[in-house]
Amino acid sequence: MAIEARIKQTPKPETGVLGTLRETAKGLWSLIVGLGVTGKYFAGKQVTVHYPRQTVEPEALTGYRGHIELVGKPKTPDTPRCIMCMKCMRICPSGCISIKAQTEKLPPQPEVEEGPQESQVPPPQPKKPKKTLSKFSLDYSLCSLCSLCVLHCPVKSLQHSKHVYWAETDKKDLTVDLLERLRRSAKEAS
Ligand code: SF4
Ligand code: SF4
Repeated sequence: MAIEARIKQTPKPETGVLGTLRETAKGLWSLIVGLGVTGKYFAGKQVTVHYPRQTVEPEALTGYRGHIELVGKPKTPDTPRCIMCMKCMRICPSGCISIKAQTEKLPPQPEVEEGPQESQVPPPQPKKPKKTLSKFSLDYSLCSLCSLCVLHCPVKSLQHSKHVYWAETDKKDLTVDLLERLRRSAKEAS
């Protein structure tokens, strides 16, 4: 019913010589209005760049949200602040973060003998194995740039990059090793 009513309301094109002239005039006017809008932007200040011949100034990227990247420690910028809590990996709705941590293998600890202790010195505490980050990768083809991982990292080890010029023809090339990227950036900055 609603479609029928709409069809009835649509004006029929005018017929006859006068009608054809009116329709032509309407078409021409619409063309002039469209060209006016195009001309205004053509003559105005350019707001885009001709990539790859030109690139935008870094100031223009303020607030730009690129793919996530790791943040290094202030004194050792090639080491991420990450404490391997895995929160970012668990909270990511797209499952695009992949982290692996390696736990140090310790030599067998000497057994503490039970029984009355004459000495007041407490027995040595067993050494805790050290954990190291061995993999931190991002599948950017899945990322929705929602920022949940950045917001939930307890040690602010993640941020959005300003990496604006990244395009690939194959989806599998959109996976980035963030650990390697952090090390490379730290080396370039030193
Ligand atoms: S920005 Fe969102 S989608 Fe992208 S990696 Fe972080 S949590 Fe996942
Ligand atoms: S939430 Fe932060 S600290 Fe935890 S694993 Fe992710 S990057 Fe590392």
